[in-house]
Amino acid sequence: MNELLRKTAKEQSEALRNKEVSAVELTKAALERIKDIDEKLGAFNSLTEETALETAKKVDEKIARGEELPLLAGIPLALKDNMNLVGSRTTASSKILENFVSPFNATISQKLLDNLVPILGKANLDEFAMGSSNENSAFKKVHNPWDLNKVPGGSSGGSAASVASCEVTLSLGSDTGGSIRLPASFCGIVGMKPTYGRVSRYGLIAFASSLDQIGPFARTVEDAANLLEVISGHDPKDSTSLNLPVEHYASSLNNDIKGLRVGVIKELMSEGLSEDVQKAVENAIECYKKLGAEIVEISLPNLKHSIGIYYILATAECSSNLARFDGVRYGYRTPDAKNLLEMYTKTRAEGFGPEVKRRIMLGTYALSSGYYDAYYKKAQQMRALVTQDFVEAFKKADVLISPTCPNTAFELGAKSNDPLAMYLTDIATISANLAGIPGLSVPAGFDRDGMPIGLQILAPQLQEAKLFNAAHKFERANDYYTKLANI
Ligand code: GLN
Repeated sequence: MNELLRKTAKEQSEALRNKEVSAVELTKAALERIKDIDEKLGAFNSLTEETALETAKKVDEKIARGEELPLLAGIPLALKDNMNLVGSRTTASSKILENFVSPFNATISQKLLDNLVPILGKANLDEFAMGSSNENSAFKKVHNPWDLNKVPGGSSGGSAASVASCEVTLSLGSDTGGSIRLPASFCGIVGMKPTYGRVSRYGLIAFASSLDQIGPFARTVEDAANLLEVISGHDPKDSTSLNLPVEHYASSLNNDIKGLRVGVIKELMSEGLSEDVQKAVENAIECYKKLGAEIVEISLPNLKHSIGIYYILATAECSSNLARFDGVRYGYRTPDAKNLLEMYTKTRAEGFGPEVKRRIMLGTYALSSGYYDAYYKKAQQMRALVTQDFVEAFKKADVLISPTCPNTAFELGAKSNDPLAMYLTDIATISANLAGIPGLSVPAGFDRDGMPIGLQILAPQLQEAKLFNAAHKFERANDYYTKLANI
């Protein structure tokens, strides 16, 4: 592999500006790396070589003319395959969209193209982003680059594995209940979910619209912060996107965190926690003390209800969002239906996988008359209580920390037949989506088998700068981020 691929986006940017390498060379090196190892990894559903090389060429032309380069110009990036990019297949890892070619760009894709970031391909995911292990892809499983027998986490498993294995330097994922933070923690990289509304969702295939948010993956906090800067901002095409100026997060990364109140979430430090993960979080607490932070214990009394709330709201929303896949306008249509009704039912029966069907049925049930008040309305009310818990917590602490997941990556197949066990993987991440607050996972060590452990950090709404600052300080006080998977 070309050694440049191991470098961070920041270092690669310097190499481009110093003309040590051209953007076309860097893109070609990354494409070669993908072709070398992706058969083992399964991180990509498709490559978008032409678009990538075209963008890289534009970067080189700009360099040749001596022009200023936009942030992250020329840095190889992968898009989760539920984000539209003109001319690319956008499948959401589902049979029902297997041959769907995007006729338009998602706002994030347009922003990346405008910033001359080469998009190398579409990363594998759990079908329609439903899952925690990336085993629900209709096409192939993604393997963890640290141990190919283990899962990379989901649902943005391909986005995480591609960055952790140096196929690309950056990627985007979507996080509805933890789908960026969980795979980041399982793959030993940084993954960040912004405040709900910080990034436009226009052109992201919707799963649960009140929870979905697009965010960055990178090998360092600084790279993730810069990528968020590139993709964030108001978008008239997404009415839930916030009309606020874009921030330059990198400028506050090195702020002193003396006196920062770091809250440790009590409920996530006990039950079901693996010994190694617990030790890693305790080490993180010690690290923050050394950095001058003040440690406080925080209780989120309603956190224990978050999985139950999520699996009513997310399934209800997805049953409605996925109604559009009926064989009429997009994607797959069954070849042998005798009438319209049969066309709908057969198309959906043949096109969706088992987990997606399970969720559509659960969500339809929760929304049906007679059950709506008992389930959907109750869950909405409980969601408000979870949000209120955070409001109280952030009176006592500036940021909150916890493990990103109670355990490290598990063996492929270990939880495939037990949906409930799979759902419990998200116990630490889901409540941030319910409350709409930003959160990230940063590498915090390794377990006894050498598998990465992630530390989750949460901040109040729109306090991304503080979140990145706290994470960057932790990252630089340790050397976990310098360790790369050996694949
Ligand atoms: N694992 C959770 C689920 O299966 C979260 C997925 C996500 O964030 N997209 O729904």
